[in-house]
Amino acid sequence: MPEPSRPPGCRYTEDARLDARNTFGVAARAPLLVEIADAAALPAVLADPALRDDALLVLGGGSNLLFAGDAPGPVLALETRGMRVLADHGDFAIVRADAGASWDAFVRWTLSQGLAGLENLALIPGTVGAAPIQNIGAYGTEVRERIHVVEAFERDAGELRRMAPDRCAFAYRDSAFKREPDRYVVTAVEFALPRTPALRLDYAGIGEELAAMGVAGTPTPTQVADAVSRIRRRKLPDPAVLGNAGSFFKNPVVPAAQAEALQADDPSMPAFRGDDPATRKLSAAWLIDRCGWKGQRDGAAGVAASHALVLVNHGGATGAQLLGLARRIAASVQARFGVAIEPEPRIVGDRW
Ligand SMILES: Cc1cc2nc3c(=O)[nH]c(=O)nc-3n(C[C@H](O)[C@H](O)[C@H](O)COP(=O)(O)OP(=O)(O)OC[C@H]3O[C@@H](n4cnc5c(N)ncnc54)[C@H](O)[C@@H]3O)c2cc1C
Repeated sequence: MPEPSRPPGCRYTEDARLDARNTFGVAARAPLLVEIADAAALPAVLADPALRDDALLVLGGGSNLLFAGDAPGPVLALETRGMRVLADHGDFAIVRADAGASWDAFVRWTLSQGLAGLENLALIPGTVGAAPIQNIGAYGTEVRERIHVVEAFERDAGELRRMAPDRCAFAYRDSAFKREPDRYVVTAVEFALPRTPALRLDYAGIGEELAAMGVAGTPTPTQVADAVSRIRRRKLPDPAVLGNAGSFFKNPVVPAAQAEALQADDPSMPAFRGDDPATRKLSAAWLIDRCGWKGQRDGAAGVAASHALVLVNHGGATGAQLLGLARRIAASVQARFGVAIEPEPRIVGDRW
């Protein structure tokens, strides 16, 4: 059989190893890996019958997924990395970055352009294209607050869509893209960023870190990004040294009455009010810590000693072992507190 003609600017690898493409560093393979350097090739690539497969996985930096087994179908990686100012309106600008660009490199580039708004999201691993998928958030900021348009290729329709935030169903660690992972490939994201920053410094030690850095008076957005990066480096294991995917569990949202009953048993339990007065968000880290998991190991799979939410690969753990550990953690939280906790990363090759 002759090889089908393949669009230029793409690299096809059969039986590809994905070990270096996931920050847990677990061994996994894909029957086919397609790396695309030119987004214009995407429609032709996706029209290829081999990639029309429902099991197609779009892979960014692999920092928010767990390969519990091999990828069941082909894997697509966008290697497009452009960034540019689309329109400068003086007090704010619209900027655009390609899906394959490094998120942290993009944050730093916006700061170098004199633009603010993303400083609290510095040093989150992964790509720009993945940022809207779970509406990344950190230090009191969510990316949806700055998104102008998500450009995404709708696979079934074969059309490129420009989606304003109100069409993306953004919520806490969630979006339309996360709920329908087979529907869209995000190709680029545009952001509206102000030149005059409204800095958020009242969150999780940013003020103290700026003081420790010797910053007196009002900091610059770059100094805030530096402070956030310093705290993150101290608190979270570096995936290059110890495989992990950041927080493994989302904070559970429960009825307010359930939170109050749990707090009556233990008044030290944190519970946060959200938009809905009938519910409370609990701290998954606190619940897991109370069940005694921090620093525990099951062979090479473990829970970070520094952070109960972070599952780690001490070296040679399989994705199935990590998933098994995660299930045991969730079962113990359910048994002790009656609260269901769910994984934040996508589980590939198995089900939660
Ligand atoms: C040390 C560490 C710290 C972290 N801290 C945070 C944090 O503070 N806040 C936070 O929100 N997250 C955090 N994360 C999780 C992760 O970094 C983010 O979710 C990030 O956005 C994932 O990017 P990625 O490119 O690695 O995506 P991947 O892991 O490759 O993919 C994640 C999901 O997005 C989909 N996807 C990726 N690219 C595209 C695309 N172009 N089109 C369609 N779907 C796509 C994938 O199919 C998958 O479902 C952390 C992870 C680590 C390892």
